[in-house]
Amino acid sequence: MESIVLFGPPGAGKGTQAQRIMESTGLPQVSTGDMLRAAVSAGTPTGVEAKKYMDAGLLVPDDVIIALIKDRIQEADAINGVMFDGFPRTIPQAEALAGITVVSHVIAIEVPDDKIVERICGRFTCADCSAVFHDLFNPTKIDGKCDTCGSGNFKRRADDNADTVMSRLNAYHEQTSPLAEWYQTKGIFHIINGDREIDQITEDILSALK
Ligand code: ADP
Ligand code: ADP
Ligand code: ZN
Repeated sequence: MESIVLFGPPGAGKGTQAQRIMESTGLPQVSTGDMLRAAVSAGTPTGVEAKKYMDAGLLVPDDVIIALIKDRIQEADAINGVMFDGFPRTIPQAEALAGITVVSHVIAIEVPDDKIVERICGRFTCADCSAVFHDLFNPTKIDGKCDTCGSGNFKRRADDNADTVMSRLNAYHEQTSPLAEWYQTKGIFHIINGDREIDQITEDILSALK
């Protein structure tokens, strides 16, 4: 089992790219953010615990995240590995992951901080198929209609506001970016310039994965 990690600041385009490369890699997208939001909506104990941190733009404690991942990796579709999106985000999470699966590639999508805020504040997703859009940078082709499934139901995340973005960026620089060095020493780290057209980034990621 070999897995891929999509790494980068909030709003870098990890989810957007994961949806686009899923077919080529044949690996399912595993987003801890999506799993946590599902737990929050379902009102599970994990969701209740996680919500406090998510609303404040802080990282959810490692033990909660590691338990979620350990369960997820047991599911049938993970047999050949998965594509992690937004995990690991701390050194202890990466250490735990190393005991669970082999990571073959870490794809680091780099976007400057000043671009992150505008990306996050314009983000919306399809409520039915989770396709990711942006008011200005990646609007739906037909107004009010999802490109992928045709639905007209869209949603925005409660934490996608200018205040929370600053704490999330801070958490990224303090707790997550040290992981870059950790993975660089392992020789599996690929840096991708994420401040370009979505298609160009997809091409670069696919060639890094070859
Ligand atoms: P992440 O999963 O890393 O948080 P997303 O994939 O959700 O990031 O992207 C954040 C926002 O930026 C979305 O609204 C998305 O449509 C938009 N976006 C993604 N990639 C690009 C890009 N290359 N250029 C401009 N906007 C982008
Ligand atoms: P983004 O890529 O826009 O930051 P995510 O959907 O990945 O958003 O994460 C949303 C929130 O969920 C984070 O701000 C954090 O509170 C929590 N979270 C997601 N993944 C992790 C993780 N691996 N470790 C700790 N907290 C996480
Ligand atoms: Zn849709």
